[in-house]
Amino acid sequence: MKKPRIVVANWKMNLDVHQASLLTHKLADRIHVYRDVEVVLAPNYLCLQPLSMEIDRRKFRLAAQDGYFIDEGSYTGAVSFSQLRNLVHYAIVGHSERRRYFSESLEIVRDKVTAAVRNGIVPILCVGETREERNLKETRQVLHDQIVSALSDLTGEDVEQMVIAYEPVWAIGGHAPATPEDIEQAVNWLRYQVSELYGEKVENRLRVLYGGSDEPEFVSGIMGVEGVDGLLVGHASLNAEQFADIVEGVHIASLSED
Ligand code: PEP
Repeated sequence: MKKPRIVVANWKMNLDVHQASLLTHKLADRIHVYRDVEVVLAPNYLCLQPLSMEIDRRKFRLAAQDGYFIDEGSYTGAVSFSQLRNLVHYAIVGHSERRRYFSESLEIVRDKVTAAVRNGIVPILCVGETREERNLKETRQVLHDQIVSALSDLTGEDVEQMVIAYEPVWAIGGHAPATPEDIEQAVNWLRYQVSELYGEKVENRLRVLYGGSDEPEFVSGIMGVEGVDGLLVGHASLNAEQFADIVEGVHIASLSED
């Protein structure tokens, strides 16, 4: 059976509860129920509870944008995966903005991936090189280190459920994604790392996304890359028309593979 494609809306630190609810309603009007595409909304923590009561579960699943790796205790301001466990299906972990602005090390990302899995939440692990690392031709080393470290506490059964998003940091937040050739090279390398660690069966089941300036016009090119199972969308996910077009584009690309 073909793996369902996934499109994740990473709303980042945008939208209050009211605005998130309005956008969700607009999306619900525009997005159909697709059997072959899972649409995942990742709002801020505050919006998760109200949205969980509003969404049509045939259309949407929820993701947290982060989570803390200790389940409970005196960690003021933190929200743990154990507190998120009945609210979300997925959690974004290791986003480059967390690595950069919140100093998340490889070890912290590993502990978060492990905590998400321990609490029955599917991690969407973000990996990707900065522009400087790309210029220094360190992309493969960076992806290797990020993947090997993040998965180091997991079994093959854990990893085959997971989602890994290739998000080159230099392509985030603009209007020009990485080229299909760049994406193909990185995704092949990333999949190769997983198959070396856990074997081909796990690598085949794992879903790999691309993220970085996804906009509707680029969807067919990116989804045409072998090994890409969906998209992680930032700024374009805040626009109902654009995001709905992206979801539709992923659905069309999936149909054309049949
Ligand atoms: C992201 O930050 O995960 C992302 C993909 O952002 P954008 O689509 O805005 O590049």
